[in-house]
Amino acid sequence: MKPARTRMAPSPTGRFHLGSARTALFDYLLARKTGGQFILRLEDTDQKRFVPGSEEEIMQSLDWLGITPDESPVHGGPYGPYRQTERREIYHRHARILVEKGYAYPCFCTPERLEKSRQQQQAQKVDRVKYDGLCRAIPPDLAAKRIVSGEKHVIRFKMPQDGVTTARDHLRGDIVTENKHLDDYVLLKSDGLPTYHLAAMVDDHEMQITHVLRGSEWLSTFPLHVNIVRAFGWDEPVWIHLSVFLKPSGKGKMSKRESAQAIKDGYSIFITDMKDLGYTPEGVLNWIALMGWGVPEDDVMTLEQMIERFNIDSLTPSPAAINFQKLDHFNGTHIRLMTNEDLSARLKPYFVAAGLNVRDETLLKVTPLIRERLVTLDDCLAFARFFFEEVVKPNPEDLVANGLDAKQSAMIARKSYEILSGLSDIAHAVVEPPMRAYVDASGYTAGQVFGILRVAVTGQKVSPPLFESMEIIGREKVLSRLRYAIELLDGM
Ligand code: GLU
Repeated sequence: MKPARTRMAPSPTGRFHLGSARTALFDYLLARKTGGQFILRLEDTDQKRFVPGSEEEIMQSLDWLGITPDESPVHGGPYGPYRQTERREIYHRHARILVEKGYAYPCFCTPERLEKSRQQQQAQKVDRVKYDGLCRAIPPDLAAKRIVSGEKHVIRFKMPQDGVTTARDHLRGDIVTENKHLDDYVLLKSDGLPTYHLAAMVDDHEMQITHVLRGSEWLSTFPLHVNIVRAFGWDEPVWIHLSVFLKPSGKGKMSKRESAQAIKDGYSIFITDMKDLGYTPEGVLNWIALMGWGVPEDDVMTLEQMIERFNIDSLTPSPAAINFQKLDHFNGTHIRLMTNEDLSARLKPYFVAAGLNVRDETLLKVTPLIRERLVTLDDCLAFARFFFEEVVKPNPEDLVANGLDAKQSAMIARKSYEILSGLSDIAHAVVEPPMRAYVDASGYTAGQVFGILRVAVTGQKVSPPLFESMEIIGREKVLSRLRYAIELLDGM
């Protein structure tokens, strides 16, 4: 396959979510696979919907995912500018070409007239409300004069009125639409800015885009888009309309309400939330790759492996339900594929953000003890914050072993303290034999004795392996935590 030029063309009108990330990923994979380029183009022509900060969020999301564009408003490139509001002249020139060729016309209808016509059509119960075509009939020289005189106008596409338009989607095949159902869409607005329909077609051509991957919400205007491209006489790109995302229940499209619910449940569909929630770019990428790419749904893949395997023919148009349990699964799996060094470096910020003082050397010893149990990176706090705390404050009830009372538990804690303080070293291999000997001699169970010790030194009932943990915490801290536990038990 010859090098593909792909683009993702988000509008800075909201947050960067899974859908945008998936388009970007597939664009990136196709470009990398074929030795081509992946382009980021900002489609910011709808200034009313502009949301401050959303451009930055797009860039941050792509950077965090590790799918950085080759050409973009930030990276530059030979086909710039990559922000549509900086390309106005280009759209004006192209709109003029279409008008001159008879494929578009100026329309002077006022918003009031359009509204009235819309209401009339609705009253007549027409199948589809459309522009009624009044200005189509204005002779070009007259229209030109009205423009010169400064009359407010838009430019509309002159949609063919008979026959059909056949548009080919690479995944869905030919989509045939009767032209009489199509509207004369606006290409250039009265504020001089283009609509998506004109701007995206012009830019895809000018930027030599070979494959257009976009959401299936564009299928309804797909016939318009191919008509525009054909009116210019350009080659069409390969068009791919990706599947929609369904709610986790599989019933209905993902909505604003569903994404708010996801946040309540500790998940998110927004990429910049993923880091705080403890997800890794590897886990997120693997998860989104499998929504709409027909590879076996449990396949674990790194970005490199995805590039290796990617093929647009195996993308699928069927809707994909968002399954956050799968995200957890892939995240945990990718965590376990990391080296200890890499994982330690990624865990550190979560400890630091929790106000803990983390020594890298200690963290490197802690990581292997918890890595098997991590689903998200921030789970490290629940499992391992006690390693870095100065003191732990166990719940006194938790110090009382199953089947024993506070007095008996205090006695066991004292005995344990006696044994441990008598040893000069807290190494696992040094501590375990005398502690086991004590269990055997005492008549208590290992669960009871080690349970008290565990709560005393870690502050929690469930922890990584006890003796390994004590070795990392160090002799002095273990002994002082044990003294504190004895005090608590004595006070009960
Ligand atoms: N600006 C459009 C959007 O955000 C881009 C669609 C496309 O990729 O062509 O939906």
